[in-house]
Amino acid sequence: MGLIVAEICCIGITQVHCGVPEQPSIAMKCIYHPSYQVALPPGHPFPMSKYSLLKDKLVAERLISAGDLLQPELPDTALLALVHTSAYLAKLASGGLSAAEQRRLGLPWSEALWQRSRLASAGTLLAARVALTEGMAGNLAGGTHHAFDDHGEGFCVLNDVAIAIRGLQAERAIERAAIIDLDVHQGNGTAAIFRDEAAVFTFSMHGERNYPTAKMRSDLDVPLEDGTGDSEYLDALERHLPAVSAAAPQIAFYLAGVDVAAGDRYGKLAMTEEGIRRRDRYVIEMMRSHGVPLVIVPAGGYAPTRARTAELHAHAFREAVAYESALHAGPVKSAS
Ligand SMILES: [Zn+2]
Repeated sequence: MGLIVAEICCIGITQVHCGVPEQPSIAMKCIYHPSYQVALPPGHPFPMSKYSLLKDKLVAERLISAGDLLQPELPDTALLALVHTSAYLAKLASGGLSAAEQRRLGLPWSEALWQRSRLASAGTLLAARVALTEGMAGNLAGGTHHAFDDHGEGFCVLNDVAIAIRGLQAERAIERAAIIDLDVHQGNGTAAIFRDEAAVFTFSMHGERNYPTAKMRSDLDVPLEDGTGDSEYLDALERHLPAVSAAAPQIAFYLAGVDVAAGDRYGKLAMTEEGIRRRDRYVIEMMRSHGVPLVIVPAGGYAPTRARTAELHAHAFREAVAYESALHAGPVKSAS
């Protein structure tokens, strides 16, 4: 294990120069890399451009300044191997996925996709390290919760959050972690990876009749009916989220999927934009008022346009910055 720790500790960071002047207000560090976006075949349903649109939006709104945007570097295989099998990683590295495996993944393999998946995983680990010292941080890609240890599916190649948690544990930075997975699809890969690990609390609230058909067992699963709207959704979240803080995690990862929105191509729920904003705010307040460092990752979102998807994703980051700003301005009412 000592060798692995030494290797994965060499993931460094560099700042992204985006030409925006420094601003003095409270902001949150976010992780981004231009290679988070890779080319897909024309007509492919995955909204790859949402990552750069999200970054551009947060920079334009000055929620992120040049100094707050950090860039991950490619991680060593040893880090990825804390979660994924050597056989699966070898296939990914060599382009050896079969046609059936690529269909299950929903993405065609490419060298760029392999690079993107590794960078996004390193980005979530980097965000976690920042969150441990600063309270909150975000990665502008990630939340690829359908990736299992030995295969990918549902647009998810590597399980970035699992890699970040195992990376932090290997560095002895943490022992206990929690995952708050509010993407509309169940976090089946995450649940399977941490099935036998009491130190990692997995919470998934998702559409019961949505993908994946075969759900894995999380520590806490909250299935929702098709058509669930704001009040029912937020009531369920208020009932169940306290179980996460009760698990006393040393860090929490929030998969702030916006495919819960009404009109989402793959969602089947009926959340309004205001409902999503309130959901994001509640998660942030609950974790931060309990002193739990929080990492925010976008996870899924398939609104009618990519600009709309990016706009919905931006709410979690806006709410995080607003919370931090209020915290520095004066006492903040605790979430109960
Ligand atoms: Zn999803």
